[in-house]
Amino acid sequence: MNVEGLTSFIPENEIAGWLEQTRNPTKERVREIIQRSLDKNRLEPEEMATLINADSAEMAEEIFEGARELKRRIYGNRIVLFAPLYVGNECINKCEYCGFRADNTEVYRKTLLSEELVAEVEALQDQGHKRLIMVYGEHPKYDAQYIHDTVKEVYAVKKGAGEIRRVNINAAPLDVEGFKVVKEAGIGTYQIFQETYHRETYETVHAAGPKSNYLWRLHGLDRAMEAGIDDLGIGALLGLYDWRFEVMALLYHTIHLEEKFKVGPHTISFPRLEPAVGTDIDSLSGKYAVSDFDFKRLVAILRLAVPYTGLILTCRESTELRNEMLSFGVSQIDGGSSIGVGSYSQQDPEAFKKSQFLLGDNRSLDEVISELCDAGFIPSFCTGCYRKGRTGEHFMEFAIPGFVKRFCTPNAVLTFLEYLNDYAEGETLKAGLRQIDRELEGMPESKAKEELKTRMEQVRAGERDLYF
Ligand code: SAM
Ligand code: SF4
Repeated sequence: MNVEGLTSFIPENEIAGWLEQTRNPTKERVREIIQRSLDKNRLEPEEMATLINADSAEMAEEIFEGARELKRRIYGNRIVLFAPLYVGNECINKCEYCGFRADNTEVYRKTLLSEELVAEVEALQDQGHKRLIMVYGEHPKYDAQYIHDTVKEVYAVKKGAGEIRRVNINAAPLDVEGFKVVKEAGIGTYQIFQETYHRETYETVHAAGPKSNYLWRLHGLDRAMEAGIDDLGIGALLGLYDWRFEVMALLYHTIHLEEKFKVGPHTISFPRLEPAVGTDIDSLSGKYAVSDFDFKRLVAILRLAVPYTGLILTCRESTELRNEMLSFGVSQIDGGSSIGVGSYSQQDPEAFKKSQFLLGDNRSLDEVISELCDAGFIPSFCTGCYRKGRTGEHFMEFAIPGFVKRFCTPNAVLTFLEYLNDYAEGETLKAGLRQIDRELEGMPESKAKEELKTRMEQVRAGERDLYF
């Protein structure tokens, strides 16, 4: 782990300075900044700090409305669905907040055997999933070759109409050679969360193991880029340090990647600390616990600050909060998630003891889909951009006029229609078909619409995996 010559690109004093200098902003200034975002500009740190400081109920509502407007204008109403797949929870780190940490004796250790991995993927395919994120503890067993091989195994599983078309990764940062090996397996996004960008806090909660090296982790995604993986996910675990600092740091990380590689992150995640078996989260989080109000504000602020980046919200959050935040521009959610190792395929009453933390949203994928449709969203299992080589897809959605109408919405309709044909019944099927009708009604008559209708007929006749 060589960090010689590496420095931090998170300027802690500058961040504190911006947060101090922008206190008590005027309404006019806040509106100006929201407008700059609606004009498709990535915000500057001073502007983000101003929005963070606009914390009255009235100003917060303007920020929420700005985020909703941006979502409506740019992203349309589709929501991409995925599921996490935990491959193994052995770990040599001692992250104080995580149920998988090496010295937690209350968690059952488990690494999926090959046939168990296949069973998990089949169970996910039976639900209708097409996109997974594979999650690994940090352990010598889970090296780059292992990650490569397990990803390949997942792609090879095909049960009935099921197949996994995109595998993303959440695992420890590798060296450049390691990232090259993993890239070879045909992954989508490589996601690494810095947890906290505040160095002193980072070093306190990661006292031992390879993860204790702040700079190695901070530069992890630079190495992934150097290895040719240009589809990256960043994130912060909220509750370890002041969220205001963390969201500013996420922006600095974004700017760093943009400046160095001309590509920003594809996605940003912002998990809040959740209770975990054998872990005292309350004493860890203390004064930094993020309230629901601040959580909504920070998501809306991120939406405005990095308008072209996908935002991911997971089942760690409650159903009510997730539904509310979709309108602020969250673009991906998981559905029907189970985070015990092996718990999609085995009904194990003790599964939570193999879990990293406890979930706030336990709805099945079918329920999530039905509720998305009722709320006017169109669920999408699209993997089109990634497989057509259009990487940096969110950037394109944002930058190319008409991109969402030309590609994303039709692909959402086609992949959702597949789902409805293959997996849905009863009320969900009805709600889904109604939502597709509404989507088509909203499209102006055009050649593209005719082409979409033709392909929908093909899907109804049994063809699969059609995309633009
Ligand atoms: N072991 C790898 C790592 O640490 O990067 C990847 C997998 S780790 C299981 C995935 C993420 O789970 C971590 O980056 C962390 O942000 C999150 N996590 C850990 N403990 C959590 C908790 N108690 N509540 C919510 N998220 C947690
Ligand atoms: Fe291990 Fe990752 Fe959990 Fe840390 S967060 S203990 S590295 S699984």
